Amino acid sequence: MRAVDIIQKKRDGGALSPDEIAFFIDGYTAGRVADYQASALAMAVFFRGMTPEETVALTQSMMRTGEVLDLSALPGPKVDKHSTGGVGDKTSLVLAPLAASCGVFVPMISGRGLGHTGGTLDKLESIPGFRVGLSLDEFRDVLRRTGMGLIGQTPQIAPADRKLYALRDVTATVESRPLIAASIMSKKMAEGIDALVLDVKTGDGAFMKTLDDSRALARAMVDIGRGMGKNIAALITDMDQPLGNAVGNSLEVAECVEALSGRGPADLVELSVELAAWMVHLGHGEPLEAARARIVEALASGEGLRKFREVIALQGGDPAVVEDPGRLPRARRTVDIAAESGGFVTHIACAAVGHAAMVLGAGRETVDSAIDPAVGLVLHGKVGDGVKKGEPLVTLHVNDEARLAEATALIRSAVHVGPKAPPRTRLVREVIQ
Ligand code: URA
Repeated sequence: MRAVDIIQKKRDGGALSPDEIAFFIDGYTAGRVADYQASALAMAVFFRGMTPEETVALTQSMMRTGEVLDLSALPGPKVDKHSTGGVGDKTSLVLAPLAASCGVFVPMISGRGLGHTGGTLDKLESIPGFRVGLSLDEFRDVLRRTGMGLIGQTPQIAPADRKLYALRDVTATVESRPLIAASIMSKKMAEGIDALVLDVKTGDGAFMKTLDDSRALARAMVDIGRGMGKNIAALITDMDQPLGNAVGNSLEVAECVEALSGRGPADLVELSVELAAWMVHLGHGEPLEAARARIVEALASGEGLRKFREVIALQGGDPAVVEDPGRLPRARRTVDIAAESGGFVTHIACAAVGHAAMVLGAGRETVDSAIDPAVGLVLHGKVGDGVKKGEPLVTLHVNDEARLAEATALIRSAVHVGPKAPPRTRLVREVIQ
């Protein structure tokens, strides 16, 4: 077999066999296939696409270049959730403790934030002492003891994806649906899970801006999961405004503690409960209604909050942040942005809000930028909420005064107030199975 023939076949619109895909991916990971050949194949896939069978084979090949966790010794279903990313998207920290409280094991391997979207690891690292860099043995131990664990990507998980993603990033081939789907799923399937719930965001603050694009990505990932014998569902959810009120790492952790204490913003609680219910439904096979009732009970009884405290302590963090979120990093000062007129919030430009949080230092412009865990912003009204002239619309949490003017201008242009409340949109748009 030769790499050039495989590139030519895809260039001319042919479907690659699993053996051809494995030959190429193994060769690329080991350095036998050159970067320029992998770039050419990525571009051919970008234009020609892949069949569902090819996409499954690509996912499997990428997954097998690294370690696939064996969690079969854990006495229960192993289930994770993956989100395609958004602004204020903090559901992992709420749903993982809730699902673990209902007897599913949640082995969550997460990423960092980039651009206007946040990442679970950055949020967790705002908890003093919290270690996201556990070894895989430590991870297994935490999972066994508490039913959940939260760590970052390790070099042992799907190394082909690491290499290929870096190449796609500089060859304008990130935006290929089969390549995105295989990239995400190769890492998730390496977690040794039985079931997976996907939260595919749609809207201005999401990777996929239109419902059609989100639906197609969801379909591709669900087909891969199903093709690999997993229980899988994708919820397509709204990202036309931030989720919850807080955007910024320690502010979001504090909001998750509020949510697990029964006082969280309605949208964050609704989505976290729904995703956790799907995790229990797919993991245990019990009806969705019954799973939802169990998750609601875990929230109401405080069991989810206790679980969150337990996992923070087991991963080296300060568990007292659960009783006293004031122990989380705090910005030097807050600045209110007041409504210039009264009425209703009609629109929040979601990506611009994420961008404002990034400008304040809560997110990364490039993969190597440092982030400030304390800064960010809190929205006081969401779309449809009433506001009075002069009342704070948004509070900025600021450490670097030089960044204040740009963040303020972004928020001023992002949050719109008008005389009439717009119709409420549904948080969960569709479920794809
Ligand atoms: N996230 C990933 O992990 N991979 C992609 O290709 C795109 C988003």
